[in-house]
Amino acid sequence: MSTNRTFTMIKPDAVANGHIGAIINDITAAGFKIIALKYTKLTEETAGKFYEVHKGRPFYTDLVTFMSSGPIVAAILEKDNAIEDFRKLIGATNPADAAEGTIRNKYANSIEANAVHGSDSDENAAIEGDFFFTAAERF
Ligand code: ATP
Ligand code: MG
Repeated sequence: MSTNRTFTMIKPDAVANGHIGAIINDITAAGFKIIALKYTKLTEETAGKFYEVHKGRPFYTDLVTFMSSGPIVAAILEKDNAIEDFRKLIGATNPADAAEGTIRNKYANSIEANAVHGSDSDENAAIEGDFFFTAAERF
């Protein structure tokens, strides 16, 4: 398993608000290399599966509805210390708490519609990348 990769999604709110280009620019400017990239849409079923760890939490049903409400951009990213550096780049889950200049600070609207996802561990980055991309789709 790679320890220098993470997985991200540009969530439906940021796509709908026209931030795909700006967010990809921030990601590459921060030194992340794009290994895989896809513009797609989750169904309620696939969104439910992706966020299965949160099943039972009060926000789970709304989160699944939101994540399947419109297209998303999925990507595998590579950089030294990818997991930690990417979570620093995106900022806190709640954009109200996200540090100045972070992606969530700049582009997110609420704790639910928070513009981007970032994996929380090497193990989950691998699982989440495999959820969206075949080996032939990685470069
Ligand atoms: P992500 O996993 O999307 O990168 P995160 O790791 O910062 O975000 P998690 O705790 O994993 O946060 O929550 C997953 C997602 O669920 C959040 O990004 C957000 O969209 C939503 N979420 C988390 N907490 C809440 C909440 N209290 N109310 C509504 N939605 C929430
Ligand atoms: Mg998380």
